[in-house]
Amino acid sequence: MKRIFSVAMLFILLFSMIKVDAQKTIEGINYATGKPIKVTIKDGKISKIEGIKKLSNENNDVFISQGFIDNQVNGFAGVTFSFGGSDLTQEGVEKATSELWKKGVTTYLPTLTTNSKELLINNFAVLSESIDNEKLLGSIPGFHLEGPYINPEDGFRGAHPKRFVRLPDWNEFMEFYKASGENILQVSVAPEMEGCQDFIKKCTEKGIVVSLAHHNANTEQVNLAVANGAKTSTHLGNGCANMINRHRNPLWPQLANDDLTITIICDGFHLLPEEIQVFYKVKGVDKTIITSDVTSYAALEPGEYKTQTGETIELTKEGMLRYPAQNVLYGSASAITKGVGHVMKVTGCSLADAVQMASTNAAKLYGLSDRGTMETGKRADLILFTLDDFKVNIKKTFVKGELVFSAE
Ligand SMILES: [Zn+2]
Repeated sequence: MKRIFSVAMLFILLFSMIKVDAQKTIEGINYATGKPIKVTIKDGKISKIEGIKKLSNENNDVFISQGFIDNQVNGFAGVTFSFGGSDLTQEGVEKATSELWKKGVTTYLPTLTTNSKELLINNFAVLSESIDNEKLLGSIPGFHLEGPYINPEDGFRGAHPKRFVRLPDWNEFMEFYKASGENILQVSVAPEMEGCQDFIKKCTEKGIVVSLAHHNANTEQVNLAVANGAKTSTHLGNGCANMINRHRNPLWPQLANDDLTITIICDGFHLLPEEIQVFYKVKGVDKTIITSDVTSYAALEPGEYKTQTGETIELTKEGMLRYPAQNVLYGSASAITKGVGHVMKVTGCSLADAVQMASTNAAKLYGLSDRGTMETGKRADLILFTLDDFKVNIKKTFVKGELVFSAE
């Protein structure tokens, strides 16, 4: 009898331990309302959000919000998704992901850019395994292909290698799509290229988000692309030649078309403050997405680095990534976390609006209904952070309810 009793006690003890582990609470200042709240997490999801009088610890300036969602991540912390032969590994994807968690990015789209067919198929195949990689906790819902179907002209092409730029090819794209496990969520293309309007229609029929990028499309071509299903403009104001006609250039039609959402790089280097101000005034909080276009050089120490093609580039201590030989930028070295503070500083928008542009809007765009807001029933992808002179400092990151980063 005593033995049965002690076995029963053991089960009760084990059960309560499991229960304690499955349910936890986090407190913080609600990023949207400025009021203190307690969020209960159960089985990886938000099960309850309740207002409280004050936070129980002394951290009265710590905000809580949903984690950031970045739709354009070329690489991070020394890991590149786009280049290399067979350099990309699952370990590399895991490293980039855990480094992004430290920046409060809980969901992102690894982005492959213009390259050979073989490289793209190879890297999409590696990335396809990351969707179900349990260590990543669902942080990668799919991928972004930027190029190779873009405008080959200098300036509009940006840093994409000319020899790999080509006309849209549906059959080739389907090979990429299959290699990715049908997980390409977005493709960025130049609508003026021969065959592109048809390509946009076919992608739209498959539910793939089409974005306009590295193009020199006129008003008719932009509007036709939108009519055919294109939804966004990729990093508006970048991927554009330095010298353009003041009337007839690709910026005006993209700003003028109300059905186009824009993504903008807000790292403090890619766009002037007045460009961000105007873009934001035209598109508003619901049609603006903060993206990073971040590269593998992010989260590395300042200094000089050699690219895979042998060029010397410099990462300054301010976080600017320069290509000194041509005195141009070489992509971004900042996660969208920096963009959240920068967009507030430049536009005067609220923290609530900045966080929406760095999470909710992207989740809606890709139909990721399990994330993107801090609501009961959503994934417990949550971040705790302070805001100090427009700088977001991540204190803790939870992904699917698991604490994956703590600054202390
Ligand atoms: Zn680009």
